[in-house]
Amino acid sequence: MKSDAIVIVGAGHAALALCAALVEAGQGHRVQLVGDEPELAYQRPPLSKSFLKNAEEATQVLRDAAWFADAGIELILGDAAIAIDRPSCTLHLRSGRALPYGQLVLATGTRARTLPDWPHAANVHLLRSAQDARRLREALSRCASVTVLGGGFIGLEVAATCAALGKPVSVLEAGPRLMGRAVSAALSAQVLERHRAAGIHIELQAQVGEPVFEAGRLRVLATSAGAREVDLLLLAIGALPNTEIAQAAGLACDNGICVDAGMRTGDPQILAVGDCVRFPWGASALRLESIQNAQDQARVAAASLLGGAPSYQPVPWFWSEQGGLRLQMVGLLEDGPLETVRREGAQPGSFSLFHYQQGRLRCVEALNAPADYMMARKLLEAGLSPPAAVVADAAQPLRALLAAAPAQAA
Ligand code: FAD
Repeated sequence: MKSDAIVIVGAGHAALALCAALVEAGQGHRVQLVGDEPELAYQRPPLSKSFLKNAEEATQVLRDAAWFADAGIELILGDAAIAIDRPSCTLHLRSGRALPYGQLVLATGTRARTLPDWPHAANVHLLRSAQDARRLREALSRCASVTVLGGGFIGLEVAATCAALGKPVSVLEAGPRLMGRAVSAALSAQVLERHRAAGIHIELQAQVGEPVFEAGRLRVLATSAGAREVDLLLLAIGALPNTEIAQAAGLACDNGICVDAGMRTGDPQILAVGDCVRFPWGASALRLESIQNAQDQARVAAASLLGGAPSYQPVPWFWSEQGGLRLQMVGLLEDGPLETVRREGAQPGSFSLFHYQQGRLRCVEALNAPADYMMARKLLEAGLSPPAAVVADAAQPLRALLAAAPAQAA
């Protein structure tokens, strides 16, 4: 008999948001959630921040076991999905279990990128899961100094955390600026200055040479600036989407599992959500790695599963905490000329950057300016473009802009 079960693969942020949306909708399907990590889903963002600082801090569980029991959702943890048999609508697990599905949702997230020609070394760390974070936290308590390879969000968050712990920290970034793929050059420059002022050594355009491994440890790493002894190294060079089971099942993948605006793959019975997904974006397609994206896509997928025809049209937002720096971003920059207006924040050294393209507000980046960021989010979500001259006047409260902006609607 054909199953009407909804089977979800991956028990992370997107999967949990999907479970919550299905419960909220009060739907009557059987739901099974398969996760390869052995523990209940938890908040990932603290893993590079507070969790590393405090040996006593536990993971923040998203929903406890009782919630799943009450919701009638079967939790299958510590087991991985290894194959999708599309003709028979069956998901195969590593344990040998086979789960028939009516609808299947892939929420497999990403994994940390590694350097393929590097052997395993006890003092080289990755950071994606709670298990990684526990191992890193334990090693940090014993190490004298830290090297971070990669000046993206996770690398800088860990570097700032280590600096707060009093460890000498070096960040080696191959590109010409920090967070080069995600933020404007103006924000990169400010963050570089602040981290250097806080004592973090940062090398840009650092071309890593031949590493020296000894007795199962990375001992020396050379860059264009010279060779350095390594005590502990965090590899923070980006993430790769977990698309293998989708690809093996013949679903279209291109730096992510390809879905339409309703989160459906080319197979009407299979959807995908979260970091592992590439979704339509204007004339192109996009893959995002953020809590906002995971949660909002999950709600869209729930609507699709329940027979609706939703369309994911996000105004993406993201935050990163790097020591005393709180970065908040909303909107996305596109290629092409940019007009940037700086608005000073309420606290000394705080500010927001309002980026306009073709006369239209596209993106706002805030540094320690949460109130301006929240207002900017409202403006962007409403599709409003306040005049640059008004934005630049920090004496003008942004809520006045919100009221005044409809005349400027883009
Ligand atoms: P995940 O939460 O990664 O969940 C995917 C799950 O699927 C994982 O548990 C994985 O093990 C499992 N899985 C994979 N393959 C299989 C399989 N075959 N079978 C079973 N299970 C499988 N975002 C922000 O917006 N702000 C932040 O400050 C921020 N900080 C972060 C800090 C760290 C250290 C990390 C790692 C991420 C951070 N992120 C942050 C990103 C955010 O956590 C992700 O965007 C979010 O977790 C994506 O949710 P997801 O469900 O798509 O993937």
